[in-house]
Amino acid sequence: MRRAASIHLHPEALRHNLGVARRLAPGVPMWSVIKAEGYGHGLLWAAEALAQTSDGLAVSQIGEARALRAAGFGGPLLVLQGPRDVSEARACTEFDLQPVLHDATQLDHLDAAGVVLPVVWVKLNTGMNRLGFAPQVAKRVATRLQAAGHGCGGLHWMTHMACADEPGHPQNARQLEQFGATVSAFPGLRSVANSAALFAGWGKGGASAAPGDYWARPGIMLYGAHPASVPVEDLPEGPDGDLRPAMTVRAPIIATQPLEPGSTVGYGATWTAAAPGRAGIVAMGYADGYPRHAPSGTPILVQDRLCPLIGRVSMDMLAVDLSGLPEVQVGAMATLWGEGLPVERVARAAGTISYDVLTRVADRLQPGN
Ligand SMILES: *Cc1c(COP(=O)(O)O)cnc(C)c1O
Repeated sequence: MRRAASIHLHPEALRHNLGVARRLAPGVPMWSVIKAEGYGHGLLWAAEALAQTSDGLAVSQIGEARALRAAGFGGPLLVLQGPRDVSEARACTEFDLQPVLHDATQLDHLDAAGVVLPVVWVKLNTGMNRLGFAPQVAKRVATRLQAAGHGCGGLHWMTHMACADEPGHPQNARQLEQFGATVSAFPGLRSVANSAALFAGWGKGGASAAPGDYWARPGIMLYGAHPASVPVEDLPEGPDGDLRPAMTVRAPIIATQPLEPGSTVGYGATWTAAAPGRAGIVAMGYADGYPRHAPSGTPILVQDRLCPLIGRVSMDMLAVDLSGLPEVQVGAMATLWGEGLPVERVARAAGTISYDVLTRVADRLQPGN
């Protein structure tokens, strides 16, 4: 169904942002992370935008990797969660995937499938406590993999940082130290850095890291959102702040309402006009992917002016304060996030993160240019 709200995707922004990642870690190859439907932009769209400039693409699950192969992507593919069962273990060789192995059950699946994987990545849990083998068993895992013939083209090492968006957090040094100390005994590539770790300067694992060839794994920054936990307004100018949004979401104003002092707007009458003014009703709601909990005051861009959201977000609509913009009429466009309004600002106002806003944007939005 054709929706009034439209989504505009900018493939050149992805390539530009990959260039920013490369400048943050010169010489470090990049897995471009396109999991979760390319962070809401579309798996195949993101793959196509990045295929020529990336060193490889990273997804979460085998099914996503198979979809990329079916679409003709022939480059290196990293699967961050690795195989879940025997048939997925078989798919790793059939589709030439580089799985991340994080749990002993996956080694059992490889045995049962009778496959030999030329390239594997072993995930170590250095404190995130999400996926990964304990560092103490790294040697045992490597020995078991090699005995089964895996990794003749590379047995590589990976970890993931819990607090890279807060570079001063003491957990960062602990994780980098433990990873470096554990992998120093092994050959192979290493990979530590997501977007936040790249901005923190840990593309090569930090000062304590053992020498080795590092790969980075940027995700959110490729789509133009800064991963830092500081407000985006406080970010430094220059290459760090030079990310470009890959997605702009716009919707038309479909009605306006004159407001008297004391007039309320929307469900629950949660916002009250203090002065005479005007509300614009925008054809974008939570069913389109706008965060339902965004409070009054969340910025919306109307004709180059940031105007506050007023009242509760409805399913297909929301209201914006147009006081002081008498020239804006029905049919004018509002930008919910993207060019001119970083998605981090909207996410922060709504008490969430850019990842959450981008990955919820609804398929039903009208593609625009
Ligand atoms: C999602 C993910 C990334 C990318 O993280 P960003 O914060 O989006 O840069 C990197 N590595 C792993 C293991 C991930 O799951």
